[in-house]
Amino acid sequence: MNKEDILYWLREKDEHKLNKLWNMADSVRKQFVGDEVHLRGLIEISNYCKKNCLYCGIRVYNTKLTRYRMRDDEILECVKFARKNGYGTIVIQSGEDTYFSRDEIAELIIKIKKHADVAITLSLGECDEQSLKIWKEAGANRYLLRFETSDEELFERIHTAKQSKSLERRIRQIEELKRLGYEAGSGIMIGIPYQTYESLANDILLFKKLDIDMIGIGPYIPHPETPLGREFIKDYKNDEERFVPNTEIMTYKVIALTRIICPDTNIPATTALATINTREGRILGLKRGANVIMPNLTPPKYKKLYEIYPGKSSADDEPEVIHQNVLKVIEQAGRRVGKGMGNRREL
Ligand code: SAH
Ligand code: SF4
Repeated sequence: MNKEDILYWLREKDEHKLNKLWNMADSVRKQFVGDEVHLRGLIEISNYCKKNCLYCGIRVYNTKLTRYRMRDDEILECVKFARKNGYGTIVIQSGEDTYFSRDEIAELIIKIKKHADVAITLSLGECDEQSLKIWKEAGANRYLLRFETSDEELFERIHTAKQSKSLERRIRQIEELKRLGYEAGSGIMIGIPYQTYESLANDILLFKKLDIDMIGIGPYIPHPETPLGREFIKDYKNDEERFVPNTEIMTYKVIALTRIICPDTNIPATTALATINTREGRILGLKRGANVIMPNLTPPKYKKLYEIYPGKSSADDEPEVIHQNVLKVIEQAGRRVGKGMGNRREL
């Protein structure tokens, strides 16, 4: 499939024709990654962040937010739950929180590995090469860092234009991850204001070029306590001929196209998708190319405060409830829970 084909599908509106795309993605998924759905238990360890991404609810300038950090024993409780339920991976995510030193994160990785035979994915934002090396040695297996968009101008618009070459720096970190032996995860938001179809097609091609091992694709959800969210809610009237809407259907299209173009990669049915369609978002994600779910194991009292975007799906639910719901989703999609760590390539 070339760029022209990608653009054709991104602009296609006919539900009947789109069935062909869903079927193609589903059969590629079945052929390359099979029927297993891998569970990655997500723990959101801190909502402190020094960054100011204009779309994100936990950015440093959101002064209305109560901030938290989880203690090690609280984190290990979540790990215990994951182990008990056979999860192959723990994902440690946070804002860019300078409170945790490089060594503290390394110690946390070592402790988790002692408690459970799981793969560890880190998602702690941008960081230096030395930290990545130390965390790798401590036992981290994967790292998630979305490039958000491959369009430099758009990237700078949704971050702060002050730092030039910021997209380039982020892509360099993704390449560095691969060199250090991590599985590298990345991803994008669908329908950020002024995102063009052309740039979205380029995003998918960049996944391929960078040979990304895990690709997170979710709709942009406006947060009223952010500059971009306020602009979106007040003034933004999307011209759908020119710019990509932040819709559910557009998200499925990008998941499906990504599956076809990067056939053996891991693609989650994201929480953002479950947020815009609680009943069916994840099921349809799984039927249109996805093969991973990241159940949120963060205790509800913290999870509620990790408000990257509003209305986050299952924000009040305990891990046990979330887990049962995820099992139902997998069953309804006609699939089965994955065994082992669900690496892209078995090591
Ligand atoms: N601080 C880390 C991890 C937390 S943010 C980092 O930035 O990598 C994780 C992801 O949440 C971001 O990469 C972004 O794609 C997504 N996100 C942030 N705000 C969002 C919003 N308003 N709508 C949808 N996704 C959002
Ligand atoms: Fe911080 Fe990540 Fe949100 Fe940016 S997207 S403000 S780095 S948590």
